[in-house]
Amino acid sequence: DEEPVDPSDELMFLCLGGGNEVGRSCHIIQYKGKTVMLDAGMHPAYDGLAALPFYDEFDLSTVDVLLISHFHIDHAASLPYVLSKTNFKGRVFMTHPTKAIYKWLVQDSVRVGNISSSSEQKVQLYTEADHLSTFPMIEAIDYYTTHTISSIRITPYPAGHVLGAAMFLIEIAGLKILFTGDYSREEDRHLISAEVPKNTKIDVLITESTYGIASHIPRVQREAQLMKSITDVLNRGGRALLPVFALGRAQELLLILDEYWSKHSEYQKIPIYYASNLARKCMVVYQTYVSAMNDNIKRLFRERMAEAEAAGDVGKGGPWDFRFVRSLKSLERFDDVGGCVMLASPGMMQNGVSRELLERWAPDQRNGVIITGYSVEGTMAKLIVHEPEQIQAIMTKGSNNPARRPGGPREGEQIMIPRRCSVQEFSFAAHVDGTENREFIEEISAPVVILVHGEKHNMMRLKSKLLSLNADKSVPAKIFSPANCEELRIPFKADKVAK
Ligand SMILES: [Zn+2]
Ligand SMILES: [Zn+2]
Repeated sequence: DEEPVDPSDELMFLCLGGGNEVGRSCHIIQYKGKTVMLDAGMHPAYDGLAALPFYDEFDLSTVDVLLISHFHIDHAASLPYVLSKTNFKGRVFMTHPTKAIYKWLVQDSVRVGNISSSSEQKVQLYTEADHLSTFPMIEAIDYYTTHTISSIRITPYPAGHVLGAAMFLIEIAGLKILFTGDYSREEDRHLISAEVPKNTKIDVLITESTYGIASHIPRVQREAQLMKSITDVLNRGGRALLPVFALGRAQELLLILDEYWSKHSEYQKIPIYYASNLARKCMVVYQTYVSAMNDNIKRLFRERMAEAEAAGDVGKGGPWDFRFVRSLKSLERFDDVGGCVMLASPGMMQNGVSRELLERWAPDQRNGVIITGYSVEGTMAKLIVHEPEQIQAIMTKGSNNPARRPGGPREGEQIMIPRRCSVQEFSFAAHVDGTENREFIEEISAPVVILVHGEKHNMMRLKSKLLSLNADKSVPAKIFSPANCEELRIPFKADKVAK
């Protein structure tokens, strides 16, 4: 039996979302009377209130600080709800690029409807007005800069993954906690990869476990396979659909494609489309934050700007002004003839443009769907990799599908579409794989590791692997994998005293 511990020496950890799942990330940390909340996401496979973290299970008015790791839906999209519909009254922090992109992303998601897509009972979680009125409450901060808020010290570090993504180092009364958010460590075309905070002994590491112990094939090989897959589709006269999240990894894929097209003139007559309402706004943000990116993109930036200047193209140029990519604001302006490469959102084809194109293109075997992101359980992207014979049609905006009536489709009214297109999957999701994650965890060597952001089976495999590494240690690490709403209480001896 354990010795009784003074409750004031315990760290409390609670997942309101993202426990044994990928989606609706939200974690609570309490120590010495201070409360920190990590992320405020939505679940991409659910609609309306069901997509939210379990906010009812915790008194949000006690939160001192809320930290948002990056702009992805599963980490940031319920923030306007928290700020406008709950009793939360703490302070909110994110990095500058995250804040800039978050603004457009949320605005766009409200316009296309952050509402039920599959049922007629539309529940709007928040309005554009809620978003715009709460946006100024968000405080933007820089990497490597420490802020102290009611004696909680926070410092963001680059996390790779997407522009602006941060790992947060949090210090409460001497206890040091590192939250990775989503992170990556491989060389990318535009991002600075994640770094281990230097000369800092971490007591608690909260890390993602998306890929469990699975390992990615090397980047160079993966890119070659991706390009072969795309060109195979084009060579047989098909259309290649790449469902992507509107922003973030899409920019990396566009860099890869644009570079490949510039080296292979035989494909230059085949258009690459980037279908996003946000294309222009994003480009401005991406141009603005070139300084927050890696040396590769900075060099490309200088080269392109010099070329543009030499050609007298003032206001043009830069690495995000692609040579072979055309932006599409909507499908109304899209002339669907002949082969093409189409990057369209949303990434998991829950609804919207990517879903509409999937339904249009799936019956033709010349076409191909290429999944490059992480697909959450319960979404079309996850379903289609199993190559079903048929997929279910949904009513998309603007279509008058008579099969849909209030109360949902009745039995026998489901419209099914044959799936003859090819389906392939390559990971460009920019999450660490099993090996990279294990190496990072070993490097941090925190005595307490809490796994979040992973489907249960992946998380359990990683947990077993980490436990097996304990055999080589004098002090075994404690590894936790809490489910949602399962409160952890972790004792820390009184040696953690504020300096
Ligand atoms: Zn992410
Ligand atoms: Zn995520």
